[in-house]
Amino acid sequence: MQTVASASSPTVDLGPATALSCRECGHRVPLGPVFACEECFGPLEIAYDFSAYDTEELRRRIEAGPANIWRYAPLLPVPADVAGKPNLNPGWTELVKADNLARELGVTGGLYVKDDSGNPTHSFKDRVVAQALEAARAFGFTTLSCSSTGNLAGAVGAAAARAGLRSCVFIPHDLEQAKVVMAAVYGGELVGIEGNYDDVNRFCSELIGDSAGEGWGFVNVNLRPYYAEGSKTLAYEICEQLGWRLPDQIVVPIASGSQLTKIDKGLRELISLGLVEDRPYRIFGAQAEGCSPVSTAFKAGPDVVRPQKPNTIAKSLAIGNPADGPYVLDIARRTGGAVEDVTDQQVVDAIRLLARTEGIFAETAGGVTVGVTRKLIENGVLDPAKTTVVLNTGDGLKTLDAVAGTGLTATIRPTLDSFREAGLA
Ligand SMILES: *Cc1c(COP(=O)(O)O)cnc(C)c1O
Ligand SMILES: [Zn+2]
Repeated sequence: MQTVASASSPTVDLGPATALSCRECGHRVPLGPVFACEECFGPLEIAYDFSAYDTEELRRRIEAGPANIWRYAPLLPVPADVAGKPNLNPGWTELVKADNLARELGVTGGLYVKDDSGNPTHSFKDRVVAQALEAARAFGFTTLSCSSTGNLAGAVGAAAARAGLRSCVFIPHDLEQAKVVMAAVYGGELVGIEGNYDDVNRFCSELIGDSAGEGWGFVNVNLRPYYAEGSKTLAYEICEQLGWRLPDQIVVPIASGSQLTKIDKGLRELISLGLVEDRPYRIFGAQAEGCSPVSTAFKAGPDVVRPQKPNTIAKSLAIGNPADGPYVLDIARRTGGAVEDVTDQQVVDAIRLLARTEGIFAETAGGVTVGVTRKLIENGVLDPAKTTVVLNTGDGLKTLDAVAGTGLTATIRPTLDSFREAGLA
C-alpha cells in the first residue's frame, strides 16, 4: 500500500494547509496524496497556519463570501481562488427551526434541522468531495474515484463531470436503485462489487497500491485527509446560522465516523479563532441497530470498536468497520455526549415524523438521527431544555423503499359524489 508521501511538492497551493500531521504521534509530512503515518500507521490530518487571522476581519471576510462552503475557504485546504474553479459549490444549506418537531419531541430549548438534502447531489457528500477535488487538481490526478455506500458515488460522478475529469467509482452491488442511477447518470464508470462496503473499501486499497490505480485520486482513501475537512463546514455553517453561537447539543450520523470527528474539529477551530464563545457543547452519534459497531462499543465501555456485518435499511451508514470509530468514542465521552442506535422500524417512523412535522423528506440516515434524538430524549440523555441541532444528511427520494406503502389516500371517479363517498368532503 502506498502510504508514504511521494508526489508531494513544496509548491502545492492548498491555501492555509501547511502539512499533514499524524493524529496519533504528531509526525509531519508534506502535503501529498497519503493518508497513513509512515511511523505508526495512524491517520494523517491537515495542519494549518491560521496565525495571521484577525478575528473580526475573518468574520467579515466570511460573511461577505459566497453562499456556499467557499465562504470558509480561509479555513479549508483549498487555494484562495477556489470559488472561481469549476465545482459544484455545495453548502450553505438551510438550518430549519423545527418548532413542530420540537413540540412533538418535547424540546423547549430550540430544535433545528440542518438539512443537507439541499446540496447539489442531495447529500452532505458534496461538501467532502469538493475538498478532495481541489487536492486532486493540486496533485495532478486525472481520475476521481471512491468506495461508496451510495451517496459518495453520485457526488464524485457529478463533481468529476463539472471539473472535466474522468470518474470511476465502486459500490456494493445491491444498493438502492435511485443511488445507482444517480451515480451512473453523470457519465462516469460505476462498478458494482459483489460484497458489502467493507469489501469495496478493501478492494480500493488494493487498487491504490497497484499500477492499475496509478493517477487515481480516491477521494476517501488516498485523498482522505483533504476530503474529511469538508465536514468542518457543517460546524461552521451551523454556528454562523445560529448567529455565531455554538449549539448546546448536536446529533450526527455515523458511517465511518469522519463527519462527526470533523464537526468537532470545526467547532474547536471556531472557538480557538474567537469566532464563537468558548463554552461546552455535547456531540451525540447516531447509528442504525443493524450496523452499530460504535454505539455498541460506547455502551460496552472499552475503546475497541468491533467490526460488524451490516444489515439495515440505512445503507448510507452501513460501514461495519468504521475507520474513525475510536475517535468518535473519544469525542462523545469528552464532550459529555453519547452514541445510540435505533431499529429499522424506528428509522421509518422517524422519516415519517420529520416529513409530517417539518416538510423535510429525509433519507434513512436522517431517520437514524431523528430517531436517535427521540430515543435520547426519552431516555433522559439529551437535555430538551438546550439548543439542539439534528443533521439530515440526505434526501428521501434516494431511499423510497423505506416508506413503500405510502401513497394514495383514495382512488375516486372524477365526480363530487365519488369524492363524498370516499369520506373526503
Ligand atoms: C456518508 C454519509 C454520512 C456520514 O459518513 P461518515 O463516513 O461517518 O463521515 C452521513 N449521512 C449520509 C447520508 C452519508 O451518505
Ligand atoms: Zn504516527
